[in-house]
Order: sequence, then C-alpha cells, then structure tokens
Amino acid sequence: MNILVANLGSTSFKYRLYRFEGQQATAVAKGGYERVTDYGKAIDDCLAALSAGGHLKSVEDLDAVGFKTVFGGAITGCVEADESVEAALLASSDLAPAHNPPYAAGIRQFREKFPSVRRVALFETAFYQWLPEYAHRYAVPEAWYQAGVRRYGFHGASHKFAAERVAELLGRADIAEITRGLYQSGPRPVTGEPLRIITCHLGGSSSVTAVHNGVSVGTSMGLSPQSGLPQNNRVGELDSAAIPFIHRKLGLSIPEIERQLTKESGLLALSGVSNDVRDIHAAAKAGNPRAVLALDAFVHSIRHWIGAFWFQMGGCDALVFTAGIGENDTFIRESVCAGLSGMGVTLDPARNALSPIETDLTCGGSATKVFIIPANEELVVAREARRLLLAKTFAA
Ligand code: ADP
Repeated sequence: MNILVANLGSTSFKYRLYRFEGQQATAVAKGGYERVTDYGKAIDDCLAALSAGGHLKSVEDLDAVGFKTVFGGAITGCVEADESVEAALLASSDLAPAHNPPYAAGIRQFREKFPSVRRVALFETAFYQWLPEYAHRYAVPEAWYQAGVRRYGFHGASHKFAAERVAELLGRADIAEITRGLYQSGPRPVTGEPLRIITCHLGGSSSVTAVHNGVSVGTSMGLSPQSGLPQNNRVGELDSAAIPFIHRKLGLSIPEIERQLTKESGLLALSGVSNDVRDIHAAAKAGNPRAVLALDAFVHSIRHWIGAFWFQMGGCDALVFTAGIGENDTFIRESVCAGLSGMGVTLDPARNALSPIETDLTCGGSATKVFIIPANEELVVAREARRLLLAKTFAA
C-alpha cells in the first residue's frame, strides 16, 4: 500500500511517500517546494518526481493521500477528506488562518486533478476528542459554547506518537495498543497499573499534553493554536481582558490586535531578539536580559502545565520531550526538570547533555522517567490513513 502524506504551509508543499508491507511502513521518498503559489502545480511536480524516481508508475499506484489538517470546527478525528471537510476547513479559517486555507486548497486540487485517489484528513484536534467536559469547557455563556468556543487541543499527531512510543519503551504494549487504535476503537479499559504520561511538544509552536492510560485527558492548547505556552511569535496564554483593554488604551483595531498577537508576540516579543530559540540562547549568553527572560518565561510556562497535569493524573510515570526544541535543547530540558527530585524526577545531566533518543535520561531510581522521542507526525498520518482505508468504504 502506498500512502502520500502532504504537509501544506501557506507557501510550502512538503511530501513523504510511505510504502506499507502489512503494518510496517517505510518512507521511500520525500521532497518539497517553497514559495508555492499554485498547489496544483506542486502536486503535479510531486507526482512527476515520484514517478521519475521510480516510486510510483502512475497516480493509480497511490492508495491515498493523507493530510495533517489542523482545525475543522465540529469535524475531528481521522476522516475521509471529502468536500464537507474542505468546507469545514474554510469555515474554521478564522481560528487557524495560517493552516486551514492551504489545506482546503490542496485537498480540493487533489480532488479535481485525481478524483480516484482517496483523500484522508487527520485533524490535529483528534487526540483530544475524549477530553472530559470539565477539561474542555471555558466558563463562557452557553451560546458561546454552542458557537464553538471550547478547548480543542492541537499537535495531536505529535503527542499521540510520543505517548504511544513511550508506552512501548516502558514495556506497556497494552497501553501503546490503546493509543494506536484510538481513532478506530476509542478509549478502552486498562486492567494493569495505570500509566500517566506528560508529553511536551516544544518547537516552532509548543504544547503540553496529559495522557492517562493511552488517552489524552488534558492539553495546554485551547480554542486556537495561539494558546497555552508562549509560541515562537504567537501569544500563548493571555487574559481575555487584555484585548478590549488594549483596544481602548492604544486605539488598536481588532484586526491589528489579532495581527500583533499572532505575528509579533510569543518568544519574539519577550526576547525582542528572534522567534528562534537558538538565537535567543545566543543573545542570552551574550548577556541580553530580555533573552534570559524569554527562556525563563518559556520554562516557567512548561512547568506550569506539567505541574497541572501531574496533579490531575495523581502522578507521572514518564515525561516526554519532542520536536525541535524538545529534542535538541539540553538547557530547556534541564531547566524544566530542575529541583524536582522531591517529586521523583532526577535528570542525569551528562545523559541529558548527549540528547540520546528513546533512552531514559534520569539517574537510576527516578520514579518518573524522562525521554526524548523524535517527532514523526507524517508517519502518524500515514498509519491512520491506512487504518481508515482498511476500515471504510469510500464514496465513489
Ligand atoms: P515546527 O515544525 O513547529 O516549525 P520544529 O519542531 O522543527 O518546529 O522546531 C523548530 C524550532 O526548534 C526552531 O524554532 C528552534 O527554535 C528549535 N530548534 C531546532 N534545533 C534546535 C537546537 N539544536 N537547539 C535548540 N533549539 C532548536
């Protein structure tokens, strides 16, 4: 089975082709294009490259195209990307303006060009379908909730992959199996000891997720991807009173406030240096106090969410770091885990400094294990698309 995973940005088109032998997936080709203005041309170029590379004889060899769609309003999970999904993406663009329009356009172009190729959407909100109501409700009027104002959660593919892999590494194949099959089977009861995992996806955008017995029970992400932790240039958590306040105080319009909160906030605003943590580290080392502040605020926020989920789950068996910062930044990992020996976390600084993947980073005897799991969101999309293909009859 051949599944193409398309990763669409506002001006980019990246792809990875997976070949499945049974459940075993191999990424056989990958590529991408920047400064894309026409997704139709990018799709043609991608299929031509896959054909020239001998990976596909024709588009007929493609069993499906999978899309890591971000936000579909009421639509979530892993679904056939039919025209209702295209419409839902466009209708929800307000809350994911950088991601939804490119996915809607890319899916439509695939449909128009190659109607026989099955299209599958895995929503970034999918992992959070089972958040308890008390964890996804905001205390807003009922009409707001009915209009869709609630906590949705994002980065679902990444957190799901990390949680599933760590359960395997901890010898809990039963829990890994629950996480793996969630979108087909839903949560399932656990007979053995409970397993409590907190996953930290720290990258261009960042979030923390609580996973109890294979199912997410909490996320730092809220209504939109500009919530929770300070993001690279998006705001993260903010008191809602700030918006009318600054509207009156500085005379900024709502669109301008929205622009500043999504483009000029987050780590960029705190540091005054960059939206890239590597640049912020360099500035901090050179003595820039705002750069130091940005790193401190980032760590503070990560610890805030970890603490909340630790308490909510009554403990934490494994703390997981993933994505660009989580996988590479020894300082952030060490700072997040500092002073927690009383709670059962004793990071081994020498091991942490080497950033070994899929290896416990703690000293012997630490009750909570700490792992780096390399992000592999494309693989999750390909696996879920395969499961949907095997389970579902698609519209002709
Ligand atoms: P996304 O896919 O969300 O754009 P990534 O997961 O690729 O992001 O993470 C990108 C971020 O990772 C960069 O903004 C950078 O701050 C951080 N990063 C990448 N490599 C390193 C590194 N070696 N040390 C610290 N941070 C890093």
